[in-house]
Amino acid sequence: MDLVLEVADHYVFDDLYAKVLPTTLAANIPAKWQNLLGLNGGFSNSTILQETLNSKNAVKECRKFYGQVPFLFDMTTTSFASLLPRSSILREFLSLWVIVTIFGLLLYLFTASLSYVFVFDKSIFNHPRYLKNQMAMEIKLAVSAIPWMSMLTAPWFVMELNGHSKLYMKIDYENHGVRKLIIEYFTFIFFTDCGVYLAHRWLHWPRVYRALHKPHHKWLVCTPFASHSFHPVDGFLQSISYHIYPLILPLHKVSYLILFTFVNFWTVMIHDGQYLSNNPAVNGTACHTVHHLYFNYNYGQFTTLWDRLGGSYRRPDDSLFDPKLRDSKETWDAQVKEVEHFIKEVEGDDNDRVYENDPNTKKNN
Ligand SMILES: [Zn+2]
Ligand SMILES: [Zn+2]
Repeated sequence: MDLVLEVADHYVFDDLYAKVLPTTLAANIPAKWQNLLGLNGGFSNSTILQETLNSKNAVKECRKFYGQVPFLFDMTTTSFASLLPRSSILREFLSLWVIVTIFGLLLYLFTASLSYVFVFDKSIFNHPRYLKNQMAMEIKLAVSAIPWMSMLTAPWFVMELNGHSKLYMKIDYENHGVRKLIIEYFTFIFFTDCGVYLAHRWLHWPRVYRALHKPHHKWLVCTPFASHSFHPVDGFLQSISYHIYPLILPLHKVSYLILFTFVNFWTVMIHDGQYLSNNPAVNGTACHTVHHLYFNYNYGQFTTLWDRLGGSYRRPDDSLFDPKLRDSKETWDAQVKEVEHFIKEVEGDDNDRVYENDPNTKKNN
């Protein structure tokens, strides 16, 4: 994240902060508060600043005053022209909140749109448990939740920025660095798969379910846009193990960005209705479809391991993998019957849902 933030600072945030919160404001703030908040009351004289930047010791000076050294670009006078210097924790948090929100929204909309156009099985629109205006509701919930999920995520990136993580950049080729890097991919998946399982299972505890997880289960059958359609705290809790991992175990910085993007892709993929994998070890789309239909099974993310150990694994019906049976009336009728049983068990009533295609539901007219 430090690299991403530096690019953003260089091209956007230095200018923006200098305009919105210029150093001249420091005169109105008592020195005590300036120190406490890490505000920039120092380099307000641009002549002195320019001399410092031109001096041989510019990097040293930056480190002395701002605790950080640029990696990719030289700092300019604009870098020091705001009350909130780059090293201010408040600025780091605000900048990362904006970056994670924009990146999250773009990744969600781009990936889900690609999946919708090229992968998604659109016959699900005819399913008797597809809701009226469902896709619009999925997008609305996701787009309104992502900024708040990002707000909860940003402090974890601030911790990483300030050295509280085992993220590293330099690969130690002499001491099996490449082998360690490859192993990290497996340990990351193993660790976070367990983390998502535990968080997700806790989210199904009745009181927590009603408070946080119910919005994601409004969708009994899904489109790819359901992937990030959560209550913001729910989405954050399910992602918490992705942030704990680099705090306690080594991980290459580029791998982290790749894995973070992969996780988002995977989340979209398990909601797209294409049942490609019938591998008993993989928690693929079919497994997650079973979770949305029948609630109490398949809480995992990548593998079926933790569901098997936790006694919550349910093998997807063979009909899901048979193109003729998958969208047949018999299959859908059987699903509806079981869905109704589980809605009664988990939610009690079904007053929130209005179905698009089912003339038998009381709320459809
Ligand atoms: Zn769930
Ligand atoms: Zn889901």
